[in-house]
Amino acid sequence: MDAERLDRHGVAEPLGLTWGARDRIRPAMAELHFFTGTMDSGKSTLALQTNHNHAARGRGGRIFTTHDRAGEAILSSRLGLTHDAIEVAPDFDFWRYVVDSLTAGARIDYLVCDEAQFYTTDQIDQLAKVVDELQIDVFAFGILSDFRTRLFPGSARLVELADRMNVLQVEALCWCGKRATHNARTEDGVMVVEGEVIVVGDVDTDDGPPAEVAYEVLCRQHHRRRLTAARARSVALSPEPLPFGS
Ligand SMILES: [Zn+2]
Repeated sequence: MDAERLDRHGVAEPLGLTWGARDRIRPAMAELHFFTGTMDSGKSTLALQTNHNHAARGRGGRIFTTHDRAGEAILSSRLGLTHDAIEVAPDFDFWRYVVDSLTAGARIDYLVCDEAQFYTTDQIDQLAKVVDELQIDVFAFGILSDFRTRLFPGSARLVELADRMNVLQVEALCWCGKRATHNARTEDGVMVVEGEVIVVGDVDTDDGPPAEVAYEVLCRQHHRRRLTAARARSVALSPEPLPFGS
């Protein structure tokens, strides 16, 4: 190939294209990042830190979340930090939102997307399109699998599409001290492995008051045995042998 057909980046100069057109097809710089980890691994804290770092450099961003523990349109972390956010409903369209915002004159350099496991696969596809077509960085944060140990559809789509996937290094711990890799749901203190994937607040029961829903991180072994911290404590105090068979 002739030397003059390579530009200063060593990229082949497409013949017959203007510089502006060449710039539009230059290899993309923006990326779709997926940061994942169990609950309690600091995802929301990192989401807020990421926003802070980019905003401090004068970049314009938008923060999204859904079903945050603190309520609608708020991104909160367990360390107590919060930030206003745009609530992502199931019919929210990231592509349309960003295009409309840019058309209205807004500056958007990046998106921070928390609780991304709850986004639909269509919404993850929209995020990838925003990265590729608009050169806007997307930083998505989410849990990989649900309390049944199945991948969330949104997280599965992020694994399929992300340019970079990062497993958070702040490791959550099971009550036994091992690395917690699985999320458990309890209803009135009893671990369950079936039910609606997204539960906000308490769940109705057939009889009696609604069950109190809570989450706990466990190692795989104790998730398999359904041995939560509370159950392990009560088993340790009882004369019955540990339920190794379960
Ligand atoms: Zn354990």
